[in-house]
Amino acid sequence: MKTSLTHKVLQILKGKCPQCGEGDIYETKYKTFLHIPKMKDRCEVCHYDFNGEPGYFLGAMYVSYGMAVLEGIIAFLIASSFIKEFSGLALASIVVGVIVVFSIPNFKFSRIIWMYIFPYKL
Ligand SMILES: [Zn+2]
Repeated sequence: MKTSLTHKVLQILKGKCPQCGEGDIYETKYKTFLHIPKMKDRCEVCHYDFNGEPGYFLGAMYVSYGMAVLEGIIAFLIASSFIKEFSGLALASIVVGVIVVFSIPNFKFSRIIWMYIFPYKL
């Protein structure tokens, strides 16, 4: 199994198992952008337990928070650089809108990133 950073990032983006790198973590690929992904209980290749212990994914909230803040900052910088005549309220609405739209991908990728940072071992 390759362990380079580029390979790990590709595995995270594809939603692959943190142990074997082959099995899918989520049941389905994106049907629509707002489709809530369902996580599998175990890897179909190596039987890695994706759910871990109770409360294992609480830490993924910190990852999700960081992603939301980063997306909000990027949305603010893009919106404020392209549209000069916007009021503060309009800019804040754009930032909140971007964060809401990206909340489901954040939910999915924060759990995957959490599993790669802190893999669950029995
Ligand atoms: Zn696996």
